[in-house]
Formats: sequence, C-alpha cells, structure tokens
Amino acid sequence: MLPNQPGANNFGPRIMQLADHLAQWSEQEGALTVTYFSQAHKKVAAELDLLLRAAGMEARTDPLGNVIGRYAARVPNAKTLLLGSHYDTVRDGGKYDGRLGILVPLVLIEHLHRSGQQLPFNIELLCFSEEEGVRFPIGYLGSQAIAGKFDPQNLDKTDDNGIPLRKVLEEAAVDVNSLGILARDAADLIGYVEIHIEQGPSLLAANVPLAVVTGIAGDVRHRIAVTGEAGHAGTVAMQFRHDAAAAAAEMILALEKRCSGQDSLVGTVGQLVVPNGAMNVIPGRCEFSTDIRAATNEMRDAAVMDVLVACNEISRTRGVKVEATEVLRMPAVPLSPFLQERLAASAKRLGVEPLLLPSGAGHDAAMMASLCESAMMFVRCGNGGVSHSPREIITEDDADFAARVLFDFLVSMADEYDA
Ligand SMILES: [Zn+2]
Repeated sequence: MLPNQPGANNFGPRIMQLADHLAQWSEQEGALTVTYFSQAHKKVAAELDLLLRAAGMEARTDPLGNVIGRYAARVPNAKTLLLGSHYDTVRDGGKYDGRLGILVPLVLIEHLHRSGQQLPFNIELLCFSEEEGVRFPIGYLGSQAIAGKFDPQNLDKTDDNGIPLRKVLEEAAVDVNSLGILARDAADLIGYVEIHIEQGPSLLAANVPLAVVTGIAGDVRHRIAVTGEAGHAGTVAMQFRHDAAAAAAEMILALEKRCSGQDSLVGTVGQLVVPNGAMNVIPGRCEFSTDIRAATNEMRDAAVMDVLVACNEISRTRGVKVEATEVLRMPAVPLSPFLQERLAASAKRLGVEPLLLPSGAGHDAAMMASLCESAMMFVRCGNGGVSHSPREIITEDDADFAARVLFDFLVSMADEYDA
C-alpha cells in the first residue's frame, strides 16, 4: 500500500508557519541568533521535541543536543531512512537555513501520522544541534557524532569567553567520554536525505524551484603573510618601495582571476589586514586569508597551487617575502548517485526538471556521507540568493514543492521496499 497523496498545497503554509514559530527564540534582540547550548538553543530543542511528538514520532534529545524523532515502520526490524538538517543559526541569520531541512520532513510525517499511514521503513528525523561552528570553532558537531566522526580534541576548543566545550557539556551532565556511542550503525540505515536552502542565486537565475546536489565542495584555506618594508609615506619614492599591501592586492587579484570562469570553482579573500598600519606609513606587512573551493579536489588543488605560485612570483618581482600557511583542508564529498537519481525522478514526476548543482557550502550531509548513502536537495532562495542574513527568504510555493518532491521520493522508496 502506498501512502495517500496529500491534497493541493497544504504543506507550504505549514512549513512557513513553523519556521516563523521557531524563529521566536533568539539570544539577540531583533535578530535571529541561536548558537550552541545557549538558552535560545535549548528552547528550540525543547520545542522541536514537542513538535516531533505531536507529529507522531518518538522523540529524544541526545547528549550533544541533537533532537531525534523516530516514526516507526509498519513492519518490525525494518531499516531506517534518515532525514534532517541543523537547527542552530549563524549570528543574525535566516530562519530557513538548516531548519527547512527539519520542517519539510516534519510536515510530511505529520501528514502520514494524521492519515494513519506507515511506511515499510522507519523514518528518523535528525535535528542537528550544531552545524555552523559559531560558538565553538568546530562545525558539524551534531552530525559528526552521529556519523561516528566526533573528534575528542573538540572538547578542548573554547568559545569567545574561553569556556571549553568540555565544560559546557559537563555542566549539562554529559559524560564526555561516552560520546562515541552516538555513532550510528550503517547496517541499519537506508541513507540520509537533507533539504537545504540554496544559499546562492543559481536556482533563482534559472527560474527553477529545486536542485539535486551532486556533491559538496571541500575547501582549502591559507593564511598568507606578506612582509615588505615599512617606510615614510612622504619621503620614499615609489620606485624604492616594497609595499606589502600593494603586493597583497596584486595577489588577491591573481586569486580572483584564477578562480573565475570554471564552473564550481570559487576563491575568496575574507580577511585582509595591515597590522599596525597607519595612514602615513608604507605597509611593512599585510596578512590575508584565502578560501578556495570546487566540486572536485583536483579542480580545487590545481587552483590552490596556481595561486600560491602566483603569490611567489608577485613577491619576487616586488621584492617582498610571502609565507603561506595551510590552515584547513576539507575533502570534497561526492553524494550518492542512487539517491540523486531517485530525487531527480521525483521532481520530474511533479513536472520540474531539477538543476544539478554542486554545493559550495559545507552541510551536515558532508559528515553523513561518511556513514551512509547521502543526498541533498536545494530549495530556491529569494532576494538574489542571500543567506546567513535576515533577508534570507523562500516562497511558500517552493517550500510546498520541496515537500511534495520529498513525499514522492518516500512513496517511490516505499514502493521498492514493498516489492
Ligand atoms: Zn545550513
């Protein structure tokens, strides 16, 4: 027996209403900020627990704050399909980033529950407690643990007030030595599917509501320090200067040029400083960061190498010194071709040819892919594609469409399990 299709357009308004509802808890007046284990964070977790139960799930909150709902299969010993995303936010963030991936499955499970239907597999809704890495410089804390990748060194990382994660967890009566037990056994799992707002303008530009994500880009980050020679801004003639900031400017333009024009390749200098700079002093030192990403490690690494070579050449011609320190290297994560096909087929059945997009941003699916077959769908982002901002919006129709596609996907999976 296949689940009954819902009536027309009844998911969209409910998703929007729930997103507004969850956005009432924030640690910042007039802005949506929900960082790990803050009061607002705990409130959202408690509310999610209630919503999950009301939707017919058994709910629990694990020691790291992941809220997990289980909607049982109609048969015993069934496998489990994982759905979900994160409920923490960046500072002054948007109300759909992460939460959309919780609320879409939630309304579908509400529908299944109300119409008295169960599937031939369990559904677990994973509301991850921490993905953004705002309070602690970690990121993916919730999904890391469930994927069995929790790194105990994370416990010693500190927030802006110097409080280590270990202390925050111990104060919440968490046994920090037993976090390994949160890891799931892949043998029980069908896979993981995450819906997320696109956080970019591709769908908007293509006038398509939904994309199937092909893979998650991995980034390589460097800190680059350029050392020149400080001098008097009035007395040193231009031809005698070794201006560290001017050299850095040329390096940044070289990065921008090298990272332009290739499909998923992007390069960013997000930090740029002249330490102890003054208006009347030729910069003796300039420091900047680089972040280079692409859908494949090969494309990315080739760009990183070229940018570093360009920095060296520029430093030679300008008579400055350049030092590059790699501070982060995340591998690109391919997503499950099988699940991608199934999701794309569902969108097509509902009359939309989905875009196929790589994800330039990291997501919980990057962690979950190390555990089980994982896939993602992106929902069109309004306002030019802005996210991590209060200007982040989606339409009710797009939310509804994403829900229908995921519902069709569940139906097709149920069909297969019944066969
Ligand atoms: Zn997110």
